[in-house]
Amino acid sequence: MRVLSVASELFPLLKTGGLADVAGALPGALAPFGVDMRPLLPAYPAVLEKVGAGREVAELAALPGGPGRLRAVEHDGRILYLLEAPQLFDRPGNPYVDATGADWPDNGLRFAALAWAAARTGRGGDPEWQPAVVHCHDWQAGLAPAYLRLGDAGAGASPKTVMTVHNLAFQGQFPPALLAELDLPGTAFRTDGLEYYGSLGFLKAGLYYADKLTTVSPTYALEIQTSGQGMGLDGLLRARAADLLGIVNGIDEDVWNPATDPFLPVAYDAAGLERKAGNKRALQERLGLVVDDAAFLCSVVSRLSHQKGMDLLLEALPVLLAGGGQLALLGSGEPGLEAAFRAAAERHAGQVACVFGYDEPLSHLLQGGADAILVPSRFEPCGLTQLYGLRYGTLPIVARTGGLADTVIDASHAALAAGVASGLQFAPVTAEALGFALRRALELFRAPDRWRAMQAFAMRQPVGWQASAERYADLYRALVAAGRAGGGSLPQ
Ligand code: ADP
Repeated sequence: MRVLSVASELFPLLKTGGLADVAGALPGALAPFGVDMRPLLPAYPAVLEKVGAGREVAELAALPGGPGRLRAVEHDGRILYLLEAPQLFDRPGNPYVDATGADWPDNGLRFAALAWAAARTGRGGDPEWQPAVVHCHDWQAGLAPAYLRLGDAGAGASPKTVMTVHNLAFQGQFPPALLAELDLPGTAFRTDGLEYYGSLGFLKAGLYYADKLTTVSPTYALEIQTSGQGMGLDGLLRARAADLLGIVNGIDEDVWNPATDPFLPVAYDAAGLERKAGNKRALQERLGLVVDDAAFLCSVVSRLSHQKGMDLLLEALPVLLAGGGQLALLGSGEPGLEAAFRAAAERHAGQVACVFGYDEPLSHLLQGGADAILVPSRFEPCGLTQLYGLRYGTLPIVARTGGLADTVIDASHAALAAGVASGLQFAPVTAEALGFALRRALELFRAPDRWRAMQAFAMRQPVGWQASAERYADLYRALVAAGRAGGGSLPQ
């Protein structure tokens, strides 16, 4: 079965967050299940530099935003499609913002073009490769189901569509005037269509027009149907509940493997956990923390934002420090939070160390060297860093929300007795509750046998793609089978 996967980023070619990891991992993970997945993404300079321009597959003369080309390149033994449209994508750096951090003013047009190209590819833009399903990720691909549903039906085959929400907070809303440039009918600008509270809603469109919807954990799938966490889309999501599925993300177990990780000074596995101490020392030395095996070392690898609960961590920090703990943080984001963490590092030199920026190798050392990884998110669709933590025996201390709730088993009395604790959860998501969790963690850490047992159990958790890839493959197959039977599920 052929599936086109449409996303604005793709690991290892271009990444700003978890979306890239997922889009990058799916093709390989799905292959054993008989799914031939090809990604489509914009031909950003960073991507062209890594994979070359490949061969031209189709001219896209009518592309919104000016003419472009669909190209196919081979990378790592797989084919991927690039949307070449230099007027939209030949810009350095981050794919969404300019050098000052402001959104590119034509982001609506840029990603409408990506979705348009996806629909064209879905309708046989590459005559040699006709997908049965177009799988769209996040708002940047949100218009693709609309183009496929509302575009010229006679233009080619009509693949099924899946829309995946990686984070409902990013919806892609643009002024309605943009519609005139998008090759979509103005009549579709209504509540049952493209409109979102007076704006043009790209994610809204995807959620309305796609055949099936998924998000990245079962708990988040429920949370986004509530008014508290539905961010204005809960009504639509409730109406489409029968088509909405939560499938937890996996991680790339080759990239994230403490036994082979090239970024760790000392390789280790569950049978040789004592070797992890070598990485802890290396991390403490590298970041200027006091080198001390007995200090409870917590790490954070995160965007610094309100969503990620970084302000809660600042507030709860005294609890960790009073217990003799240490914090090693790698992140970038809101300037106010960066300044506050910088101040904390100055005030508590040797106990708190912060690195600001994006650093893939260091993120591995933080996982390999720390005792615990903190993820105090206010909401978290899935979360990846807690999964890396499980794999590295770096016990996750997480807010009980979204995918964090689904993937970490709290060290409750019962779970400890049954030997199935893999980390700590806290709720409600407040600084006070995080402080309690840190106190509990400090206590558990001081009982090394128990901590070791939790680490070994955590490292045995199935955090790879196997189970989730199978669920996606089942979903595609069910969709295609339903299509043949004449099914369809557009809400009226
Ligand atoms: P989100 O996609 O909401 O930012 P996730 O936990 O799903 O959060 O994914 C974040 C990904 O980005 C993880 O792979 C994490 O290791 C990585 N990451 C986040 N911040 C940094 C950073 N400053 N340096 C290196 N990697 C980072």
